[in-house]
Amino acid sequence: MLASIDKLIKILTLEAQQFKYGDRAIIGGLEKYLPTWVQEGKNDKVPEDLLSKIESAMLGYSNAPVEDRYSKILNLAKVLKTAYPDDPKIARAETVFVNTKPEIKPVPDETVKKEDAPVKTVPVESVAASTPPYRQPGLGLNAPLNTIRGVGPEISKHFATVGVKTLGDLLYYFPRRYDDYSQLKPINRLEYGDELTIIATVQSTLLTNQQNKNMSRLEVVVSDGSGFLRLIFFRHGSEVPRYLENQFKRGTQLVISGKVDMYLGRLQMRDPDWEPLEKIHLSTNGIIPVYPLTAGLSQNTVRKDIHELINFYGNKISDFLPPEVKHSANLIDLSVALHQIHYPANQGLLTSARERLSFDEIFLMQLGVLQQKKNWQSGTAVSFSLPQEKLDALIDHLPFTLTNAQKKVLAEVRGDLQSNHPMNRLIQGDVGSGKTVIAALAACIIAESGAQSALMAPTSILAEQHYQTLTKFASSMPEDSPLHPDEIRLLTGDTPTKERNELFKKLEDGSVKLLVGTHALIESPVKFKNLQFVVIDEQHRFGITQRAALRQKGDTPHLLVMTATPIPRSLALTLYGDLDLSVMDEMPVGRIPVETHILHPLERERAYQIISSQVEQGHQAFIVYPLIEKGEDEEAKAAVEEHDYLQKEIFPNLKLGLLHGRMKPDEKENVMKKFHDKQFDILVSTTVVEVGVDVPNATVMLIEGANRFGLAQLHQLRGRVGRSEEKSYCLLIPENEDALQNERLEVMTQTNDGFLLAEKDLQQRGPGDFIGSRQSGFMELKMASFTDIRTIEKARSMAIDLYHKDPDLSQTENYFLNEKLAEFWQSTSSDIS
Ligand code: ADP
Ligand code: MG
Repeated sequence: MLASIDKLIKILTLEAQQFKYGDRAIIGGLEKYLPTWVQEGKNDKVPEDLLSKIESAMLGYSNAPVEDRYSKILNLAKVLKTAYPDDPKIARAETVFVNTKPEIKPVPDETVKKEDAPVKTVPVESVAASTPPYRQPGLGLNAPLNTIRGVGPEISKHFATVGVKTLGDLLYYFPRRYDDYSQLKPINRLEYGDELTIIATVQSTLLTNQQNKNMSRLEVVVSDGSGFLRLIFFRHGSEVPRYLENQFKRGTQLVISGKVDMYLGRLQMRDPDWEPLEKIHLSTNGIIPVYPLTAGLSQNTVRKDIHELINFYGNKISDFLPPEVKHSANLIDLSVALHQIHYPANQGLLTSARERLSFDEIFLMQLGVLQQKKNWQSGTAVSFSLPQEKLDALIDHLPFTLTNAQKKVLAEVRGDLQSNHPMNRLIQGDVGSGKTVIAALAACIIAESGAQSALMAPTSILAEQHYQTLTKFASSMPEDSPLHPDEIRLLTGDTPTKERNELFKKLEDGSVKLLVGTHALIESPVKFKNLQFVVIDEQHRFGITQRAALRQKGDTPHLLVMTATPIPRSLALTLYGDLDLSVMDEMPVGRIPVETHILHPLERERAYQIISSQVEQGHQAFIVYPLIEKGEDEEAKAAVEEHDYLQKEIFPNLKLGLLHGRMKPDEKENVMKKFHDKQFDILVSTTVVEVGVDVPNATVMLIEGANRFGLAQLHQLRGRVGRSEEKSYCLLIPENEDALQNERLEVMTQTNDGFLLAEKDLQQRGPGDFIGSRQSGFMELKMASFTDIRTIEKARSMAIDLYHKDPDLSQTENYFLNEKLAEFWQSTSSDIS
């Protein structure tokens, strides 16, 4: 049989068997591909009249309804049979067509009109009784992975390491990115740099050993009638390359996807993905998912298993979103979205799939957050208050006057403490806006009634700083102040056992009123007599379990969390909707703004001069190296190398400290402590220095590779300086000339306002970074970080609407939603602050 005819039959068989006449065997559609094939047919000497019969048989295929496509292919098979009456392959193909007659499908769900949506009058019980398909025995999404054909204990084990244990997990194991090979071209039209798909036949192979004995080069020449192309594979050893060579039998028809490059003036493809034409295409011929992998899991395994699963479940996944929500948010059906997120038919559908799945996450999270808030608000807590004169007396003894923002937030906090409901408040305030004093005053209000407070900070340096500040604060207060310096204590991992035991006693008898510390607060067997107020500083550094553990030390204590990461309001309401928000949007007067400059990479000398002269004046400096996507190891290496270089070549007479992510926590602490105690002049560091350490004597922050950072992060880093009356500098050096015209860096020189910068960051980089900051310890938002603020706001407002209509989700049309919500929050404890 002629190669071109054979190829046509394979494509048609694929179209029938795998795609059920969905016009998807060839990306772009069969009709569009036909001219390319006809050209091949001509080269192959297929009779002209047969070619034109084939062409007219396929005319209009792509726009025809499924049942017409079926007739067209059946008709084409007859044409071929007449031309080659004795060919067994054609006869076999015809049988396949006859046996794959498509069913006429009902109208798909998305087009269901609103009036057709389920009506409310159905009692809940009856819905519950009519088990939805995914809960049928053997069909459950909770079934283990080995339900899938070809998945054994070994593969299940590997999947488990990435958290995939059930079919449902796998369905939601989303691609990291996609390779778009949806363009199909004949070989003679290939251009250098194309990323695409060709369909071609193997002509010859050549396996050679490289000079380096352990490496072989396999060259495969393929042709599609329009031209020839070389595929090049390099492989280690000798077994693997020979095995590979055997897969390229002469005459085999392949679908090949990859990038066209050039070698010695000839086009070629290096290491393309390829699959036999007649097999279903999972790695070629379309938009191809690229999954995150782990040792033992190959890309092909994940693709195959997910494909198998999607095929098996197909339309069986029922949609938990109430139709009304789905329609007014203009979302595609869940099963379509899950299909398209793994195997997108085109970019448009991929976008719709992402939109749908991000919407789901935000929507469910928002509903949960609203219910959570209601739970808390209905709970009871002890009420605390301090007469105005007494509070005023305390405030009068502060070494400064409160800003208006501080007064406003203090009033909000007092209101919460006074009410009979537990406080759940988040204070967002830029670095240096003065959040600590609010916590201190609140602790005084609690101490007035003899109750206890705890403040937890992410590192022991921070805890120690807080301890110093708070005892100083307490000792400057009048005699009758409710909180004395000796009623404040510090607990970190370093607290000696003897001191610990004495401290524990005083906590149990209630004579310690405010305990400041690290996670040691929750890890050690601390028992409070009467813990009523819990403050968590730099909340994004703690997981929910840690927060919950601290709260559990008391009986529904009031909770105050503080963050210096400004989050745009629209997002904060979504991500922290369970908490009441207080914003400290004002800096104490007299702060000298940090002077920010962008320096040319060649002006580095100038930066070093500024550092030298600041150190001469007795100040200190930070030099921060960028995050490198390759990972922590590389980052650490860069910092180590730079530290050596700077110490030897640039600042031989100064003392340089080094801090990076590969160091153990106590090593890090130790370095920070030394820097704080002025044992180092300069601290060379990766981004680990970001979190709220106060070294007021540091006046220069030099950031290398500044273009790699997000605005919020740059702002955090800049916040490490400018913490005293001295003028401070932030110097931004982009990694190359091209990055110099960086809009983000420009903005940094224009404002010191963290909220403004956060808003800009949101516009420029999307919400991903902010979502990340909530994510730690929270349920996973897999899709939402890729989405846009528009989807987030839509999901939020629709969740609020629905919540107002049906707060308990007890109405029939919300039955599945309620079920899904429970499942979504299952892994999360009841404390989500
Ligand atoms: P942050 O909000 O970053 O935690 P802090 O509470 O550590 O800020 O305050 C930063 C510094 O500003 C501290 O030294 C604090 O004493 C000081 N401070 C706080 N409030 C005021 C104010 N209203 N006026 C002047 N200085 C203030
Ligand atoms: Mg602080």
